[in-house]
Amino acid sequence: MVCFGRPLDSPCTLALLVGFQFAFVVYFSLGGFRGLVSVLVHSAEPEFDYSRPHDVYTNLSQLGALFSSHTSAPGKGEQLKDCHVPSPLLVGPVSVRLSVPLSLEEIRERNPLVTLGGRYRPPDCEPRHHTAIVVPYRNRQAHLRTLLYHLHPFLQRQQLHYSIYIVHQMGNSTFNRAKLLNVGVREALRDEDWGCLFLHDVDLLPENDHNTYTCHPQHPTHLSVAMDKFRYRLPYSQYFGGVSAVTPDQYLRMNGFPNQYWGWGGEDDDIAASPC
Ligand code: BGC
Repeated sequence: MVCFGRPLDSPCTLALLVGFQFAFVVYFSLGGFRGLVSVLVHSAEPEFDYSRPHDVYTNLSQLGALFSSHTSAPGKGEQLKDCHVPSPLLVGPVSVRLSVPLSLEEIRERNPLVTLGGRYRPPDCEPRHHTAIVVPYRNRQAHLRTLLYHLHPFLQRQQLHYSIYIVHQMGNSTFNRAKLLNVGVREALRDEDWGCLFLHDVDLLPENDHNTYTCHPQHPTHLSVAMDKFRYRLPYSQYFGGVSAVTPDQYLRMNGFPNQYWGWGGEDDDIAASPC
């Protein structure tokens, strides 16, 4: 069929206009602007559905099975292949269970491959990343148990070689987060040649395992860039608190963290301002 006649008078033109409007409405209701952007700009990042988070222990039972077969018949001088990038165990958004602070014994039972000192190494591949997580701590038993319950399986799915260091400030004098971080880094590096140091508040839980606990070789990294208490936005652009990461080399170049911040706040802003 051919349409002709004066453009706006013609029933064909009107039908076309109505058709376009209809298509527009359908298009936006299905994909919205994000859909349009993702068509125009191809992103390597997967799309995440935060309305259907996974249990944080998803994909770990197969590791338990692997471990038992490894311990029963270890191949002599067996060379493991490098872990795959990205880890095939990742699931994306994970659910956060704040209501059930388990006992440390129960957390240990749920994480049979984690050894003394909160350590883990993948049983089936050679890890590419070696991360020490340093947590300044005092009097937050429930927070600590929730963190350990959540973080251990989260990091195992990332196939990291890691250890979690809880640095406890004794007594009742004023808390000093940065000083505890310095102590933790020193102890961690005495322990092992870690490639990455995580500075981690005890009351923060990661919600997506694609947020990997690894360092950038060129610059310090801030991981907690979208927190629920700040409505998933940065409170201000220089914010470096919560969870951040430096390599040991970056840590030495910035001469560690400031020891003079007693009490709440300020030390993370000072760390953010360090030339490195
Ligand atoms: C403090 C930081 C703190 C931030 C977010 C700032 O005013 O100086 O230490 O992390 O607020 O609570």
